Amino acid sequence: MAEVRKAQESSEWVEIRNSKIHQRGLFAKKDIPEGTRIIQYVGDKITKAESERRGVVHHEKGMIRGDGTVYIFTLNDRYDIDGDVPWNDARFANHSCDPNAHSDIFDHSIWLIADRDIEKNEEIVYDYNFDAASYKEHPCRCGSEKCLGYMVGAEYRSKLKKLLKTREKGKQAGHQKRKKQNAGGTA
Ligand SMILES: [Zn+2]
Repeated sequence: MAEVRKAQESSEWVEIRNSKIHQRGLFAKKDIPEGTRIIQYVGDKITKAESERRGVVHHEKGMIRGDGTVYIFTLNDRYDIDGDVPWNDARFANHSCDPNAHSDIFDHSIWLIADRDIEKNEEIVYDYNFDAASYKEHPCRCGSEKCLGYMVGAEYRSKLKKLLKTREKGKQAGHQKRKKQNAGGTA
């Protein structure tokens, strides 16, 4: 079931350095042309059932560590890739709300691909494409102008904006209610 343990999966394009976004990240060692397969996302090839089991374990571990990082990628209808293995350098790539790369599948393997020309020393970032439902577990510190403060996929951004607005309104309503109660108390 599990894939044979591979040698460290490094890439000629990137190296791991400290990141301002989150702990460590992937950085361009040299200029990377648009469309380049930057690095393969490797890990254990697991069935969907195993994936679900591990997803729960990773999630619980993440809650304890204070980050909701789950490294499981969909490979196809039957298998997923669990990238939470020491030989997967690609797991260090951080999320950004303004990404310069994306993940894609070629010949049954997952790759990070350059969305545009990336300059030497730029951090490689992509959209983790998290759903808006559990946004609170995934605060984002990508620092881009587009950042909503949480890691959600591009397709969920409008949904999150609505959620945040509703939350903001709820807070204000609660505040006004308290004020009224205070006023009543002093009268
Ligand atoms: Zn962000």
